[in-house]
Amino acid sequence: MQSSVESYPKSAVERVMKMQDAVLRGLWFSPIWRLFGSWPSNDARKSSQTLARRAMIFPMHTRLPLQRCSACPRSSAFPSLSLLLAMAVLLASVAPANAAKKKQPIQPPAATPSTPILLHVDMTDAPRHILHVQEQVPATAGAMTLEYPEWIPGNHRPTGPIDNVAGLFIRANGQTLPWRRDEVDMYGVHVDVPKGASTLDVNFDFLVAPGATGAGEDRSTSKNLAVVEWNSVVMYPAGIPVRDISITPSMTLPAGWGFGTALTFAGQGPGTGASRPASDGSTNSSASNDASFATVSVAQLVDSPIIMGRYFREFPLAPGVTPNHYLDVAADAPEDLELKPAMLAAVTQLVHEAGALYRSRHYTTYHFLLSLSDQIRGEGLEHHQSSDNGVEEHGFSDPQLALLNGDLLSHEYTHSWNGKYRRPIGLATPDFKTPMRGDLLWVYEGMTQYWGGVLAARSGLWTPEQYREQLAFDAFLMDNRPGRTWRNVEDTAVAAQILRGGSTWWSTWRLGQDYYPEGELIWLDADTTIRNLTHNQKSLNDFAALFLGVGGNTGPITLPYNFDDLVATLNKVVPYDWRGFLTERLDSHAAHAPLGGIEHGGYRLTYTEQPTDFEKAMLVRNGGVDAIASLGLRIGSTGSILDVLMHSLAYQAGLGPGEKIVAVDNMAFTVARMKAALRTAKTSQDPIELIVSNTDEFQVVRLDYHGGERYPHLERVSDQPDLLDQIIQPLTKPPAAATTAATKQ
Ligand SMILES: [Zn+2]
Repeated sequence: MQSSVESYPKSAVERVMKMQDAVLRGLWFSPIWRLFGSWPSNDARKSSQTLARRAMIFPMHTRLPLQRCSACPRSSAFPSLSLLLAMAVLLASVAPANAAKKKQPIQPPAATPSTPILLHVDMTDAPRHILHVQEQVPATAGAMTLEYPEWIPGNHRPTGPIDNVAGLFIRANGQTLPWRRDEVDMYGVHVDVPKGASTLDVNFDFLVAPGATGAGEDRSTSKNLAVVEWNSVVMYPAGIPVRDISITPSMTLPAGWGFGTALTFAGQGPGTGASRPASDGSTNSSASNDASFATVSVAQLVDSPIIMGRYFREFPLAPGVTPNHYLDVAADAPEDLELKPAMLAAVTQLVHEAGALYRSRHYTTYHFLLSLSDQIRGEGLEHHQSSDNGVEEHGFSDPQLALLNGDLLSHEYTHSWNGKYRRPIGLATPDFKTPMRGDLLWVYEGMTQYWGGVLAARSGLWTPEQYREQLAFDAFLMDNRPGRTWRNVEDTAVAAQILRGGSTWWSTWRLGQDYYPEGELIWLDADTTIRNLTHNQKSLNDFAALFLGVGGNTGPITLPYNFDDLVATLNKVVPYDWRGFLTERLDSHAAHAPLGGIEHGGYRLTYTEQPTDFEKAMLVRNGGVDAIASLGLRIGSTGSILDVLMHSLAYQAGLGPGEKIVAVDNMAFTVARMKAALRTAKTSQDPIELIVSNTDEFQVVRLDYHGGERYPHLERVSDQPDLLDQIIQPLTKPPAAATTAATKQ
């Protein structure tokens, strides 16, 4: 099918690149950003994208208004003058203390090296979880600092897995050089380059093991497959924007393994000039086990992961669409590679639908990297020209898992536009050292969550019913969170670096990455508002084309934006008080979620005793009992209380997470008995009686509840137009043979 992407003259692309340059270079070269470049930071923990997006359940009350930071008004994402001055004063006051501790300042090379770094990663020990790295880094005599990536794009946190770097040796002129880690910046290593040396030979191993920083690399290899995010295997000179450092990567793979990446394949084996086997659906085995790639910037390298495996297959997608698209699959077993035709048709349709929606593409090729494995970690990490998607071995062949994973590819793919090309100014950092600011993550992730779901439905990865079921679930999660009374959704974005992967205990009080599902609700609200204001002549589709397609087709470049840019573009679609609309929702401490989009869409959130298929699939995957909407409890399959909804019946009864239900109505706990107790109590006067253990003590807890099981649904409101149905209508015509992946699973 013909791509619907518009072509734009080169001058438009150049204009965009100039805009990008003006913003990024201006910030980088300003003194405050240089100071930030050596600012110390913390670490945290990352978790699987899909699980992270839906890991937190629950409800409300207590009002503790959050003070708005007067120094950082939402009207601009740029630091205000007063803030800059305040930071300058702060930095000046701490500088002497730091200098005393930090014996050697960050030492950038005298000039940006024009010779590329040569990087070689030996993957042959990947099955035993150790990768061997060799680098040749251009250098000049004198003090120099090498950096390892710390703030990882897409992760929005300082989680570079430096703790898993071992065996670091730096040599020059045949001599091993002493090095010293910076005492403040754990990611910086100081070394004196001897006279006469023009290259540092840097060798280290990356241990693929659970670590303190906890980035997704800790379980990324197995006996049969591996995914490498290059940030784990690269060091480079500090103090230079990473897009200005050239690097030529190469790899030795385990024998017979195939691979896929958005990097340009340059040959099999250094200097052989051999071409990559044709992408005809067969395994791209590397005969010599070596693969080298074209020179890129360090920024682009870190943006271009590689997937590989003993069982590997590359599927070309969307023939006729330029640039080329591929689905690169590595799996636990050879039969896993036989993807269903309906699934492949839906992913091809996704490529068409995204082009029609965003009216642009910002890549020169796109690779969906997909690992189907129960051995390595789950993942969902976006990049400009690819995405690192990891699901269970049967994550798309099992219908229930496929339902849960239905929006993963569309979500990560959307990030190529929303997050990579258009990026909040606070996340558009010049290197991996500068701290990121997440205040606009409700756009970066929230709008991606919205379009990821809509595109999954438009391309057939979900049926309309399945789309509504996941929307009901997200709305239910957000509508039952008492923590929203003390913390607004914008604060969850600002605090993303400490909330991601947090504990599930008291999750409805602490809150988590609410900017995903609540962002989705806010953007649905915006979409239905535009449709109502314009009598269905305009929609958020128009906003997406204007905002994400500005400049037309480009390569993988970044065009930062701030809150004002969002408001201005929304006003171009239809004049309205968009600043007030967004501010009201972002600042809200209301007890309930913003469900206006669902209501304007012709539905309402209701509860019935029957779980949706989506909820059933969640329960099958996670096990246990979801009694949040009834008792206020989430219970594991063996009776462990995983979480308690603040102010719920269970909370009032004194229950807390970490306790264990050992008996229900005088019988040993089972999931079936717990559910039966809920049903029985509906027609009984007696309370549900639990025996609960906490450490060594047992107590009897009686819950006077008679409402039965309760699960969220979207119920049609008949006197309202079905805007939800209109929103998920495809923009392009699917091929006649294609039926939805969801119905053909
Ligand atoms: Zn995302």
